[in-house]
Amino acid sequence: MGNSANSEMDSYRLKKSECPTCKHVLDAATGESGEKPRNGDFSICFYCGEILRFQGEDGDVKKADPEDLLELRRESEETYDQVYQYQRMIRFRKVQMN
Ligand SMILES: [Zn+2]
Repeated sequence: MGNSANSEMDSYRLKKSECPTCKHVLDAATGESGEKPRNGDFSICFYCGEILRFQGEDGDVKKADPEDLLELRRESEETYDQVYQYQRMIRFRKVQMN
């Protein structure tokens, strides 16, 4: 991972964000579609499994709070379930790697 940070910078205009929980730099901030995340989009930290939410236009992330998660669940129960499925996968993988 990441010795060539500078050459990757122009792939997307996002600045690199830090996971508020584990402090890893999240440099793969594009969604599955490859689109730039929008304000309010949800994401998940690939290092610790924290559920995150983009805020603002420049890629800042915060930890999703219970209200965010309720909102997500209201919007799409399916996406909500997927997020938790990812979280379990990430956390399980982490345990195995340790
Ligand atoms: Zn994290």
